[in-house]
Amino acid sequence: MSELRFNVVEKAFQAKPKEVKAPSTCASGYFAKYVFNREKMFKYLPTEVYHKLVDAMDHGAALDREAADQVAEGMKRWAKEMGATHYTHWFQPLTEGTAEKHDAFVEYDGKGGMVEEFSGKLLVQQEPDASSFPNGGIRNTFEARGYSAWDPSSPVFVVDDTLCIPTVFIAYTGEALDYKAPLLKALRAVDKAAVEVCHYFDSNVKKVCAYLGWEQEYFLVDEGLYAARPDLLLTGRTLMGHEASKNQQLEDHYFGAIPTRVAAFMKDLEIQALELGIPVKTRHNEVAPNQFELAPIFEECNLAVDHNMLIMSLMRKVARNHGFRVLLHEKPFKGVNGSGKHNNWSLGTDTGVLLMAPGKTSEENLRFITFVVNTLMAVYRHNGLLKASIMSATNAHRLGANEAPPAIISSFLGSQLNKVLDHMEESSTDELVTLGGKHGMKLDIPQIPELLIDNTDRNRTSPFAFTGNRFEFRAVGSEANCASAMIALNTAVAEQLTVFKQDVDALIEAGEAKVSAIIQVIRKYIKECKPIRFDGNGYSEEWKQEAQKRGLDCETSCPLIFDNYLAAESIRMFENMGVMTRKELEARNEVKWETYAKKIQIESRVLGDLVMNHIVPVAIEYQTKLLDNVCKMKALLGEEAMSLSAENMAIIRKIAAHTSYIKEHVDAMVEARKVANKCLSERDKAIAYHDTIAPMLEQIRYHIDKLELIVDDQMWTLPKYRELLFIR
Ligand code: ADP
Ligand code: MG
Repeated sequence: MSELRFNVVEKAFQAKPKEVKAPSTCASGYFAKYVFNREKMFKYLPTEVYHKLVDAMDHGAALDREAADQVAEGMKRWAKEMGATHYTHWFQPLTEGTAEKHDAFVEYDGKGGMVEEFSGKLLVQQEPDASSFPNGGIRNTFEARGYSAWDPSSPVFVVDDTLCIPTVFIAYTGEALDYKAPLLKALRAVDKAAVEVCHYFDSNVKKVCAYLGWEQEYFLVDEGLYAARPDLLLTGRTLMGHEASKNQQLEDHYFGAIPTRVAAFMKDLEIQALELGIPVKTRHNEVAPNQFELAPIFEECNLAVDHNMLIMSLMRKVARNHGFRVLLHEKPFKGVNGSGKHNNWSLGTDTGVLLMAPGKTSEENLRFITFVVNTLMAVYRHNGLLKASIMSATNAHRLGANEAPPAIISSFLGSQLNKVLDHMEESSTDELVTLGGKHGMKLDIPQIPELLIDNTDRNRTSPFAFTGNRFEFRAVGSEANCASAMIALNTAVAEQLTVFKQDVDALIEAGEAKVSAIIQVIRKYIKECKPIRFDGNGYSEEWKQEAQKRGLDCETSCPLIFDNYLAAESIRMFENMGVMTRKELEARNEVKWETYAKKIQIESRVLGDLVMNHIVPVAIEYQTKLLDNVCKMKALLGEEAMSLSAENMAIIRKIAAHTSYIKEHVDAMVEARKVANKCLSERDKAIAYHDTIAPMLEQIRYHIDKLELIVDDQMWTLPKYRELLFIR
């Protein structure tokens, strides 16, 4: 019965790294080979069309039909040279994955033959029959019309034989059915609001861009071992498995030498990522055994999100070529670290200034503090919403579950920045502003103007940490679409900057000088957003109590955390910033609750199956073996056998206790599911799954893991943690 396990273990042990052929040129030579970037646009498009397209990309100018036709023609010519025969609109439905439907370029030529055709119309808009994507009731199947529309700000690319066109996905009634549409709106909102605030400091700023640099964590598991674990295969995580005797205690994996088979995978992945224009830069082992990380150079947020979606599917594909499966689930293994996707976020101007970075002059530093403090205010005001933006059934295993980061959003600034803010808070305006120099001001703060923020001042427990020239949103889940977090964060900051501008302008109108008006408002904000600042240990029990006192959102139930999207201040924020309507927010929450319940439902079913087909039969078989032994002992030795068999009798009883607990509770879980499934609203159903079924999974698992320790290793059918985590 356990033959499969031993076969796959043996095979995995013998697996050798696959040879990866490096391209003949270095990275700069093949970077973006499969991307229709500006260089290729210039080459394949007539000059005036090229300029029109660049204008559309940079400034959102509309592209007329004729130009679109010419763009499509140029793209097709290039794509054919790259070996493409098909094209697809590539979009990001609310499923955490991407969707694509491939169409060949071929059309009848009217003479009985075929020609390759691709028009502007096909490039710009399509009507995918996508009625079965999650839509929260916006699109019922009988009105299953929606369309995907080209996003020119993210360049098209070729994967295998297909030209992929990044698009938004929208219902015919106008509501967004994807992540990209609201993201683009959020980025537009933060651009507009930030430009206005920048004008206090520099009237030349025309555009502010949000940047994102994600760090993707993941696990690799040998594919044979993976195939022998139905729970991994069907749910992405192990629903059972006792901790290995050795885990990550020795901290010997982190930043250690990368295992050769993994190194080959990484090399292959990096080459293919670079060819697709994804600027991958960093790779290393992570804390847990068989856990790794990959990070690119940061990019404009929309593109960075697309690239993250693309690399996740690339990772899955490349891993298979190396005999691995990649696990993107936030918590594939109990007892070792889970995986996150740190979102490094900042704002920068078209004049080349990073707004979250300290500068050299006092004026630059006032601008820096303005943007940092407004970000803190946004995070403070919408801390519950930001938590909702990263919440999911899978990420819930990380958040608050004794691991980075806690289920309370707070911000770590480091001692230097804290000192600056404290000083601003305590000093009077007159003290801070003394006129002088050609900047017309000088800040009386010892750390300013030469503000060098020490990047090593780190706190790994903080969900939203300042790291020198950016904020790092660490609570994002490894499997998530970064757009969810980026929509909430950028919209919140946009709203906050808008309020800031109003507050400052009101003071200026009342006769206050500009700099002193800015300082006054900032001082007020520093006081107000203080509860969000926390530099201590985010895992500690004291923090939970302290955060409660400070009025931060401390809810830990995933379905209830989603309520934050429908709080009055969230709806107002999204509507005022032109990002999402109440109807869209309501529909999206339906999807979130539904997805939550379904994920727990699947886990519960899989656990039930495994219990009945693997765990209980094996435990009973072993128990029978022991009983057989006891009986034979007794037949041979009589009464003397009773004391000699005492140990075996104890094990027999233990097995009986565990198996009956497991069986009973699996039955109870089935009943609980029936009750939950009867709930009429998706929200109630999700709550039922959270409150009753999710805890049962853990309780049952406890007994399975105990059995794993008792039962003869030779009989155990499922690969164990030590095999899954240490064979590579
Ligand atoms: P860490 O020390 O946090 O592990 P990494 O070097 O692994 O840092 O990743 C940091 C990520 O942050 C990279 O993607 C990097 O490009 C990105 N990054 C650096 N500066 C900025 C910035 N100003 N805005 C956004 N992202 C940034
Ligand atoms: Mg980091």
